[in-house]
Amino acid sequence: MSFQLPKLPYAYDALEPHIDARTMEIHHSKHHAGYTNNLNNAIDGTGLDDKTIKEILNNLDMTNAAVRNNGGGFYNHDLFWKIMSPNGGGEPIGEVATSINDAFGSYESFKDVFLKAAATRFGSGWAWLCVHKGGKVGVCSTPNQDNPLMPGVDCGGTPILAIDVWEHAYYLNYQNRRPDYINAFFNVINWEEVSKRFESGK
Ligand code: MN
Repeated sequence: MSFQLPKLPYAYDALEPHIDARTMEIHHSKHHAGYTNNLNNAIDGTGLDDKTIKEILNNLDMTNAAVRNNGGGFYNHDLFWKIMSPNGGGEPIGEVATSINDAFGSYESFKDVFLKAAATRFGSGWAWLCVHKGGKVGVCSTPNQDNPLMPGVDCGGTPILAIDVWEHAYYLNYQNRRPDYINAFFNVINWEEVSKRFESGK
């Protein structure tokens, strides 16, 4: 079995003005496609080629750089596209809203913590909102294409919201202004999808 580049659930220009069409097109059709192809090449003929991506990441040999980087890249971008929407933004809904309030005090405080995690990730990486068994949520960040499903990653839980802070995710439109990109991202978060992932991950 080989992994397929997932289709975007909206057009390349659908997230404008928050994320521009050119960035989305290159990010999806070049970067995500590259991780997908490289993952397929890395697992071809190994015991990993009949596993799901979650099984691969959960049981990853962290010294296997090709699978770590490209398996992470494949999974992370798939999550990223799905937790954004042209109809996104606003505030969290359902039980995840309650859990965010319990953990951070308010949605505004959560935004501050998430923005700080994403803005202070040095170099390339991701910031995450994760749910732990029992429903408690937490924010963390990882370098490169690592993610909270991988063994030994000091993050834990199931990721339900993610922001890509590699320069390829924002540089065309925002150049070095990463915090502006992170602030804009809050306008496209698909809280319905985050809420669904909270329910299945809690
Ligand atoms: Mn990316």
